[in-house]
Amino acid sequence: MRKQCEKPIRMLKLEALMRRLPANHPKQEKIHNDFRKIRTGYNGERIIGNELNSLSEDYHVLHDLRLCHGESRFFQIDYLIISKSHCLIIEVKNFTGMLYFDRTYHQLIQTKDGHEQAFLDPLIQVDVQKTRLNTWLAVHNFPPLPIETLVANANPNTIIRTTPGFTPILKKITGKETLISKILTLKERYPSEQLTQRQHNKLAKTISEKNTPHYPDILQLYQIDEKDLLKSVECPGCSALQMQYHWRKWTCRHCSYVSKDAHIQTLRNYALLINSTITNKQAREFLQVDSIDIMQRLLSAMELPYSGKRRNRVYNLDRLFQK
Ligand SMILES: [Zn+2]
Repeated sequence: MRKQCEKPIRMLKLEALMRRLPANHPKQEKIHNDFRKIRTGYNGERIIGNELNSLSEDYHVLHDLRLCHGESRFFQIDYLIISKSHCLIIEVKNFTGMLYFDRTYHQLIQTKDGHEQAFLDPLIQVDVQKTRLNTWLAVHNFPPLPIETLVANANPNTIIRTTPGFTPILKKITGKETLISKILTLKERYPSEQLTQRQHNKLAKTISEKNTPHYPDILQLYQIDEKDLLKSVECPGCSALQMQYHWRKWTCRHCSYVSKDAHIQTLRNYALLINSTITNKQAREFLQVDSIDIMQRLLSAMELPYSGKRRNRVYNLDRLFQK
């Protein structure tokens, strides 16, 4: 089983937010900074994911998991690799410059362009994830499996050092070049299979089913008023919010681009920023369409699940995110 690397929901939400806020909005700078950080992380996870694609079917590879441990408490794992003999948790980083794993103060110190910055020690992060996963397996009645951990840094030009006397921990840190060989070495360390084929598949399936992605309310998070959002349909050609619906098609007032389905992307933005359901009235306001009938035709044509009758229908937009 493969749960592939996809853009995190928060990244999609920030993208939508940057597009839908006026360029001079006071929150833009913070949103841009947060977006850049998430994008760096995501790029790292993609690079590591490409490497992991070369693993055989003997390994289930699951990306970006958020599992519940206790009431409304969650732990997250970047990549979980499951073989029949053991599990491997991979925490992905995408640092540049020089990384120093300080074993005295349990910090990760990045030196870049002469500046030092301290981060949470990812070796501690993975240890916590390991404890949580162990408990999770027991709670869900799976046999105890040895759990290994790795910190994988995606950037190939990073220099990695640690406190003198602690060099063995470097075995738990890898770049993308040595990632696969480290994973294959573990197979030798755990030669005996703990899971049957059936249990192996069931474990990956159960974890995927229990995965609970986080859908933050992004407007609340950044304290942004819904009224601040820019309305109307975005042009797929030039990104201007200038599309007008006429004669069953959208035409851009800015670049004359013509589209039949430009409203779909705008409805996706609505779902990411405001709500995963929409009424005809709310859609008319956000897409800036006057006619109830036109809006009903557009929404009906998308064959979205809905509840309610006729003009009081509430359409569910979740399907717009399925592939
Ligand atoms: Zn345009």
